Amino acid sequence: MSEGRGRQIRVEGLERTYIKGSTAIEVLKGIDLAIEAGETLAVVGPSGSGKSTLLHILGTLDRPTRGRVLLDGKDLFRRPQVEIDRLRNKDIGFVFQFHHLLPEQSAQDNVALPLLISGANRGEALERAAQSLSEVGLGNRLRHLPGELSGGEQQRVAIARSLVMHPGLLLADEPTGNLDPKTANRVLELFLDLNATHGSTTVVVTHSRELARRFPRQLAVVDGRLEEVTGA
Ligand code: ADP
Repeated sequence: MSEGRGRQIRVEGLERTYIKGSTAIEVLKGIDLAIEAGETLAVVGPSGSGKSTLLHILGTLDRPTRGRVLLDGKDLFRRPQVEIDRLRNKDIGFVFQFHHLLPEQSAQDNVALPLLISGANRGEALERAAQSLSEVGLGNRLRHLPGELSGGEQQRVAIARSLVMHPGLLLADEPTGNLDPKTANRVLELFLDLNATHGSTTVVVTHSRELARRFPRQLAVVDGRLEEVTGA
């Protein structure tokens, strides 16, 4: 049952340079990329190669120095800032290496939070949070606090939270970086399953080529540019 709401992305001539004191650090040197609606892909590259920088720009958490990003054909960064903020809150889901769950709140309350912020009533928010947690296999952990869950379970709560708004774009930055290999594998499977179910366009950043190979499409950041990874 695909909802078919995935976003189409085009990246053209994207550059990002950080200025530190008198030094300019050219991190992204000309990225061109086409991602179809509902596609799922992995971006690989060693630490420091610019993967997070690229992901942050796709998620509107950062801006390009040069070049543009088109979301469903519209130039993302030429929209008014309020529209960009609304888009980020409602249609872009993020999962990070460290889950950033609120420690004093239950799994269900953590997942309900984006809905409450966007104006849903509490009953509806809790119900949708429970559904989302069931989807990631945590329907029996609703009232657990993050500290009462394993690392893999905490990350699944974070994934449920990122999906509860049914985003058109799901961005994950080293989502398995903090997990043992077996749990990491399960969490990756979950991304692939959820992508098949929801059709959210999904970009997962990882330094692990082994994990990246599980994805139907892989791209590598090499010297500030992207290369398609083909074959084994
Ligand atoms: P990756 O995700 O592949 O590990 P990042 O995108 O986090 O790489 O970082 C790429 C490079 O950009 C690194 O060399 C990092 O030091 C530099 N960098 C990242 N963020 C900033 C910043 N805010 N200011 C200056 N340099 C930065």
